[in-house]
Parts: sequence; structure tokens; C-alpha cells
Amino acid sequence: MDLLPTTSPDGPSAAVLGAAVDELEALSRFEQDLDRTGTDAVRAADAARALGLVDVALRADLVAADVRRRQGHLAEAGSTAQSVLRWAAEHGAPYVEARAHYVMAAVFQELGDLAQALEHALHSVDLLAEDTPIPVRIDHRKRLADCLGLQGDLAAQDRYAEVLVLAERLGDVTRLMQILNNTAYTASLGGLHDVAQAAVVRLRDLAAAHGVRSDLATMDTIGRVLLNVGRPDEAEAALRPGLDPAVLDASPDGDAGADFLLTHAEVQRVRGQHAEALASLQECIRRCEAHGLTAIRIRARREAAALSAAAGEWREAYDEHVRYAEDALALQSEQRDARARTLQAMYETTEARQQSRRYRELSLRDALTGLYNRRHLDDELPVLLAAAGADRPLSVGLLDLDHFKLVNDTCSHEVGDEVLRRVARVLEATAATHRPGSFAARMGGEEFLLVLVDCPADAALDVFEEVRATIARQPWEELTCGLPVTVSVGAAISPHPLPLQTAELLSRADARLYEAKHAGRDRVVGPSGTVTAATNG
Ligand code: GH3
Ligand code: MG
Ligand code: MG
Repeated sequence: MDLLPTTSPDGPSAAVLGAAVDELEALSRFEQDLDRTGTDAVRAADAARALGLVDVALRADLVAADVRRRQGHLAEAGSTAQSVLRWAAEHGAPYVEARAHYVMAAVFQELGDLAQALEHALHSVDLLAEDTPIPVRIDHRKRLADCLGLQGDLAAQDRYAEVLVLAERLGDVTRLMQILNNTAYTASLGGLHDVAQAAVVRLRDLAAAHGVRSDLATMDTIGRVLLNVGRPDEAEAALRPGLDPAVLDASPDGDAGADFLLTHAEVQRVRGQHAEALASLQECIRRCEAHGLTAIRIRARREAAALSAAAGEWREAYDEHVRYAEDALALQSEQRDARARTLQAMYETTEARQQSRRYRELSLRDALTGLYNRRHLDDELPVLLAAAGADRPLSVGLLDLDHFKLVNDTCSHEVGDEVLRRVARVLEATAATHRPGSFAARMGGEEFLLVLVDCPADAALDVFEEVRATIARQPWEELTCGLPVTVSVGAAISPHPLPLQTAELLSRADARLYEAKHAGRDRVVGPSGTVTAATNG
């Protein structure tokens, strides 16, 4: 499956990209080749950025981040998800926000912070719309169930039952098996042995019906559930296929083999096969030490203590138990430190901070001119108006380019764009020479607003007139094949004499701009019809 054919010189279209990202998001955990998925996601993100499809790019970023998380780069995945989360919340993009929460939930789950994981998982479900593709709905709801289940919350089981129905309707065997596996694991953890056992029965039937070979993790779950319900012989039988070296050593997860061997040792101990149990345990420990699997190594110590006790070797059992307790305590504080470091990296890296600042800035800036956009204006004007007073009035000039359509039609849209950029530079330079807080914004199209803080009517009208004249005398001819570029301006001031709200201020400026156009363009109209116009054209 090549999600993004590179053969087209123009690159993929928006529709193809959207579909490719949909598909990447719906890939199931066990179907994917991680490296391949990561590469596809990065390519999709680049292509989406080139087309200006920010939300599609961020969704692809999240798929790539989730891959990085599974490859063990937790802090990196967390930082990306965190930045995307902010962007999505600021831009009102609930689906992107839900996907970011989904990745965050997984990150916190791995960090062992189940409370935070649960919170993100809840948001990731709440923010999904009814028409979200079913595989994604299943994944988000299943993660929520996992977070509940790992906390020992019995509500998890109802959640699993819900997604099981969805997966059944879809006929998605891979997801069905994941759900049943996690149902069994968490039910067993929460002491719901009947539920766990029922899930195991269905899991085995399903695997048999579809000729799916259980992987080590599944066998491990089944073995543990059967052991916990006092059926060690069946547990032994369930684990046996995993002992085949071809299966045991082909495990993709680094720790599945060791985990599996530990479960097997326990089963053997309970069945009274002490020598075999010891052999399994020794192999487990060897793997733990070879791969640095500290947590399993510690659980293996506890099992070694239990095994010595079962064999009546009390001295050894006691010594081993003491070492187990010491190691477990040390691991706890080590994990706490590691978690603190990762969280620090997630929240505090300068990269993450810069990214979020950049996203925030971008969302307030107009792409063509770099001026502030309407969004910034809507945020800022009410604040400035509230701060304005008789002793420090706020003045705005609404500018519209005259006969701009002619420039586009006569020259080209590109020339039109360049004219807009140059006008923007004049406005920006003017704002920069006024009181702090003054700024220029692009309202849309060829309409701009110059906002002057602490600037009374007379002074403001002088400034707007200066701007008008500066624009008119630019050497436009070489750019616009001889066409002049001029602007009409409508000014409004608050208070003048009474304070105005944003909408009122802008509508007055707009009415005066209209007057300026009708009076012949290339002029400024202020309160009570004050007009300033070019003296020489
Ligand atoms: P008037 O003096 O009455 O304002 O005439 P006008 O031609 O400027 O006004 P009109 O509203 O008829 O046309 C505005 C034009 O501005 C039409 C549109 O194509 C152009 N325009 C809007 N945004 C952009 C842009 O981002 N780039 C370019 N090149 N043109 C734009
Ligand atoms: Mg216009
Ligand atoms: Mg115009």
C-alpha cells in the first residue's frame, strides 16, 4: 500500500492527502509496520504543509508522534501532541484536538500517570463527532477503557463492551482481539475473574475461527487469567505455543519475551514443577539483564522468592524478598525521576515553547502581508477601547485601495499581491512611530485598519493624510504598468465625544470610507465630514 505516490510532479492533491491521513489514522496497532507508518506520516505532513492544509498536516504530525512514542521517544511525542493541542484549541478544530488528546493519553499512560491519561482520554472521546470513522471511534473509546481499567475502575468493562459491538459490526478482527485481550487483562487485574475468563474464551474462539496465531502478549494475558482462576494446567497449555523459539524470539516488543517467561515460571511453580520454573525464571532474568528491563527484573525477584518458599528454602526466600523490596523502592524513585524529566522535556523545552508561540503568532497574522489579521483586531480593539479616555483617545483609519480590481485585471494577481504587501509596509512603518500598542491590520481583501493609541482626532487625521500621500507618491508605475495606486480612508475616534464600542467605531469608519469613495477617492474623511484630499491629484 503506497499511501502517497510520488510519481506526480505536482505532488498529491488535497483530496488524496486527506484520504491518506484518514487511512494512517485508522491503521490498527498490530497491522502497522512502524517505520513505514512513520515515514508515510512525515511525507503526508510535508505535502499537506506545502498545500497550506494546516489541520491535515497536524493530524499527520500526530500519527508520526504516536509512532515515535511507540519507538520509545516519549518526550518528543508528548511535545508534539502538546503543541498541536494548543493550536487546535485556539483554532476551534475539535477533531485535531481529539487526536492530540488521544496521543497525550497514551504518553501519560506510559509515564504511569493514569490520572492525567484518563483526563486526556475523556477529552479525546468527548470531542469526536458522531460521524467520525468507526475505527477511530473504537480506538479513542478503547483507550479510555484502558485508562479506567488500569486504574482498577470497573466502569472499564462497560466501555469495552461498547467498542466490542462497534468492532463486531465492522468485522475488524484485529481490533476485536485487542479489545478482548485488554478486557481480559484489566478484568483479571480488577479481580473480575469471570469477566476475564469469558473474554479469554471469546479471544481463543476468534483466533481459531480466523486462523490467527496468537502473539506472545495475547498468550501471556490468557495464561495469566487462567492461572488467576486456578486453572494452571490450562494456563500451561495456553502458553506452550509461545515456547517455540521461532515465536519467543520473533516478538517485536522488546519485553514480551521476558514477560511471557515470567508468567510461565509462575504457572510452572503453581503446578509444582520447581526445577522447570527455576529454568524459566533464569532465562527471564537473562533477557531482562541483556535488554535492561528493570521492572520485569524486579518482578522476577519476587517470583524467585516465591519459588524458594514453595521449595521450602526459607532462608533464600527471605533474602530474595529483601532484595526485591529494595529494588522495587529504588525503581519507584527512579521512575519518578524519569517521569519528572520527561514531563519537564514535554512542557519546558524551548522548542515546544517556541512552537506554541509561533502557532499563536501565525494564527494572528495575515499570511500575505504579515500584518495582524481580523482575529487579532477582534481580540485587541475592545481592550484598547476600554483603556481609551478623553485624555487619551483611540483613533482608527479604515483604508481601502481605489480601483484595485483594475490593477489585478490589467497587470496580474501577483502584481496585486505585491501592491498589497507594499501598502502594508507603509502602514506598519507608520504604526511603529506611534504610541506602543498602535498597529496595522489587514481586515481582508484590499482593506486595512490603522489603529493609533493615545491619538486625538486632529493628530490622527494628519497621520492618515500622511499615509494617503505616502502611498500615492510611491513609484508604482514600474510595478503596475503605469496605473496609480491610491487609497481612500474613513476615520473614527473614541471618545469623540462619547466612548464607542468596537462595532460602532468600525461602522462609523466604514460610513466615512464610503463617503470618501463617493467624493472621488484618494482622500480621508473624518468626523463631521472633515475631508483632506490630495492637492495635486
Ligand atoms: P473601489 O475603489 O470601489 O474600492 O474599487 P475596487 O476595485 O478596489 O473594489 P472591488 O471591491 O470591486 O475589488 C476589490 C478587488 O480586490 C477584487 C479582488 O480581486 C481584489 N483582491 C482582494 N483580495 C486580494 C488579494 O489578496 N490579492 C489580490 N491580488 N487581489 C485581491
Ligand atoms: Mg474593498
Ligand atoms: Mg477597493
